[in-house]
Amino acid sequence: MIRREIGDDHVCLLTFDRPESGANIFDVATLDELNEHLDFVENEASLRGLIIASAKKSIFVAGADLKTLLQQAQSGDMRAFIATGQRIFSRLADLKIPTVAAIHGASAGGGYEVALACDYRIASDDRATRIGLPETTLGLIPAWGGCTRLPRLIGTGKAADVILKGRLYSAQEALKLGLVDEIAPRDHLLDRAREKLRAGKPKEEGRAPATPVSQEIHPPQQQGNAAPERAFQIINKTLSLSPDESLRMELDAIVDLGKRESTQNLIRNFFLAEKYKKGPSRTPSERVMHAAVIGAGIMGSGIAQWLSSRGVTVILRDIAREQIDRGLANIEKIYADAVKRGLMSEQKAKEGRARIVASTAPMEMRDVQFVIEAASEKIEVKREIFRELAMQAGPKTIVATNTSALPVAKLADATVSPEHVIGLHFFNPVSRMKLVEVVVATETSEETRERSLAFVRQIGKLPVIVRDSPGFLVNRVLFPYLLEAAELFESGLEPNQIDDALVQWGMPMGPLRLIDEIGIDVAVDIANTLEKAYGRRDHAPTVLLWLRERQMLGRKAGAGFYKYDAKVQTRNDSLAQWRRALHGEPEGAEGPNPATAGPGRHRDPHLRLNEEDLARRLIFLVVNEAARCVEEKVVDSPEDADYGMILGTGFAPFRGGPLRYAEHFGLNKVVDELERLAQSEEKFLPCEILKKHARDGTKIYTE
Ligand code: NAD
Repeated sequence: MIRREIGDDHVCLLTFDRPESGANIFDVATLDELNEHLDFVENEASLRGLIIASAKKSIFVAGADLKTLLQQAQSGDMRAFIATGQRIFSRLADLKIPTVAAIHGASAGGGYEVALACDYRIASDDRATRIGLPETTLGLIPAWGGCTRLPRLIGTGKAADVILKGRLYSAQEALKLGLVDEIAPRDHLLDRAREKLRAGKPKEEGRAPATPVSQEIHPPQQQGNAAPERAFQIINKTLSLSPDESLRMELDAIVDLGKRESTQNLIRNFFLAEKYKKGPSRTPSERVMHAAVIGAGIMGSGIAQWLSSRGVTVILRDIAREQIDRGLANIEKIYADAVKRGLMSEQKAKEGRARIVASTAPMEMRDVQFVIEAASEKIEVKREIFRELAMQAGPKTIVATNTSALPVAKLADATVSPEHVIGLHFFNPVSRMKLVEVVVATETSEETRERSLAFVRQIGKLPVIVRDSPGFLVNRVLFPYLLEAAELFESGLEPNQIDDALVQWGMPMGPLRLIDEIGIDVAVDIANTLEKAYGRRDHAPTVLLWLRERQMLGRKAGAGFYKYDAKVQTRNDSLAQWRRALHGEPEGAEGPNPATAGPGRHRDPHLRLNEEDLARRLIFLVVNEAARCVEEKVVDSPEDADYGMILGTGFAPFRGGPLRYAEHFGLNKVVDELERLAQSEEKFLPCEILKKHARDGTKIYTE
């Protein structure tokens, strides 16, 4: 794992180079090896310095081995592994000779903590160099000295920022923050490291800018993930402790965090992301260079922008000139935002824009590898487009639809080669949502499926395969939940009472706020389609129809469940008034107030739900529908259902997805509660697969 070379200058170079792997990681074996090298270094009196480097193309050390960590977290024996790492890194820090980390490539978590244990850190100016401590995003903390050494190096304020945000920084940003001492061109990295060693050990004084935690940094309030809070406590205290005491705090904290279900879920999500990113190795290696997008609306322009930013040339077509103009303006805005937020250089944005050709006229499409149809959600419009495309496209062109709810098979029917038709369901906004549902229809060929999966991965999105069925996975699972929230509003709960309960539970935004984002009109359309297939649980309640009739279509219209004035979200008074009338309450009376609600005439029993019951009532609908999707083979596995919901809706990541959550909560209890609710409303009836597992005491997840 680690190569040792001693130069004529008596400098020891330790090069991390894990065999048959593109990455270096710290597992038990690597730690042992490092320990043995330190035995040697400590005993070799002639050495003048030590350099730690990596032989990999784009990775210094990626961090601790997460597989080991997850196993240990599950079995509750993380302590020995972490303590060993601490001991070895402390040995490195205590060496009498000067030490330097020559960082090229990703240096994350344990891979940066080893550098922190060195006297100096030099980073290559390469784009591959990314430095940081992402542990808190996985429910862990930097416990190999990160929470102890970083505050001593750059001050507690900046250290808290780096550790609590958990992001990775470019070499330039790292230099500015003090994470590294200097930057060198990749070819000169080792030379610069040797020069640095000539300066000898740094002097102790002046090393610890003991600045207090800056005012802007508050203890984080991250739903469900206790890691930022724990890290914060240590960072805040570490300068008043000895390093050993501080390391002990790190150790206790990480061992405790490792036992939590939330931490284990966050680590599992990390592996799921890796799995979906890579896919099976048999994926063909075709690189898509040319694509066409039909429809320049919100989704079409978003998809065109994304493809062009990923190096694909795009023909963007619409029937309406003004829609083309609007679409191009939207593309311009997405690029400008990306430049402004530092995600892209002006040059890259310019090159991206230049890859899009927009037109209202039909264009030659024979060389186009993928066409993505994102025209209006009307079956006849889409069928007409598919008929026409079948004639313009080349023999190997894949024709994909971005439809939210229409059957892909019906569109495939309209073409002469249905085997080339597939659904690629992107989510809004395309530039931010990573999920693409890959909808496989009955006649979609294996080759089309594999090429589509590879294409989705090529453009940096994560595909989940779903069966061609109403609502596919994400909308189908989401809607009963959204619609029940709207019904609870009708029965007298306040919008923010409902939304707060769900945010508190861990959702990124409450269900009513989410309906406002989706658009009331779109939500009603989707509900109607789903209701035809699945019945009552997807029925759009009156409040949605009332809002639609009054053109209160959600955020885009400035009003829905809430009012939106210049980004501020307030109460929608006329909606509150409508509900008072519904409940037969006098004009001007205060709306039903759950805090004071007695068993009044029109008060609904729901008004007495506490926050937790309220959240569970809604979440159990999600669980039930996700389980149905597994039962009906809409998705291949519980992982697909869970991961799709996390990526497609932001479903509380630390809960591990609806099914993982249900399993942890207890399938028995979930089924009991659903059955209890079903006594007054049939839509809560638990599905067969849930009942079976609950009855047999078996698990949904087999690992
Ligand atoms: P939109 O109304 O903003 O855009 C549709 C565009 O298609 C319009 O510009 C229209 O002029 C154009 N169009 C209509 N007929 C056409 C034709 N024959 N040829 C070329 N262009 C034509 O709609 P949108 O929100 O972008 O949705 C597009 C598709 O994506 C729909 O199928 C929708 O269900 C799906 N979708 C939407 C969302 C969302 O959040 N908006 C999310 C996922 C999927």
